[in-house]
Amino acid sequence: MKAILLLGAPGAGKGTAAERIRDAAGYIHVSTGDMLREAVKQGTAIGREADGYMKSGALVPDEVMLRLVEARLQAGGPEDAYMFDGFPRTVRQADLLDQVLQRGGGGIEHVFFLDSPRDVLIQRLTGRRICRACGANFHQTNMPPKRAGVCDHCGGELYQRPDDCESTIISRLDVYNQKTESLIERYRLKGLLRRIDSSGGADKLAQDVLRVLQKS
Ligand code: ADP
Ligand code: ZN
Repeated sequence: MKAILLLGAPGAGKGTAAERIRDAAGYIHVSTGDMLREAVKQGTAIGREADGYMKSGALVPDEVMLRLVEARLQAGGPEDAYMFDGFPRTVRQADLLDQVLQRGGGGIEHVFFLDSPRDVLIQRLTGRRICRACGANFHQTNMPPKRAGVCDHCGGELYQRPDDCESTIISRLDVYNQKTESLIERYRLKGLLRRIDSSGGADKLAQDVLRVLQKS
């Protein structure tokens, strides 16, 4: 069981990069944000616990996240290659991931740190629109759909995430600085960190990541 991680602030482009890398490189995409939003929609026990934290831009408690991710990986085989998007976000989550991967006889291959300045992050998050049906990402100005409000891929309805309002965006960026940013140093010390400038377009970002993957 091996893994690559997409690490970066909200709005750094993790979801967009993940969509393209998954298609090009055959990784199993694990987005904890998508899993939680699905759990909220379904009204599961985890969804009911997570809902309030997500609305306010706080992290969902580690206990809940560890349960969610362990359950997700339990079904996996030793050959599986995962791409984590939005996990880990705390030291405790990172420790758990190391344990689970080691148990499966593998480990982390690369950690892609997607780096963009704060003003770019805020502009991206405020304009982001997502397909209700397939989860594809769009942006009002940077990556507009061909028809307003309609997904290019599946015709689904586009919506704005409730936590993409300005005040919640600021909270999420603060939480990232307090809880997640220290993971950059953790993975740098392990020689796993690959910093990618993610302030350009989505195509360039995906190319830069794929170039690293092809070399390894
Ligand atoms: P973003 O990276 O843009 O904040 P995500 O979809 O990854 O978007 O996360 C949305 C919300 O889901 C977070 O604000 C948080 O409440 C919750 N969440 C997602 N992943 C985790 C995680 N690994 N640990 C704790 N909470 C998480
Ligand atoms: Zn769609």
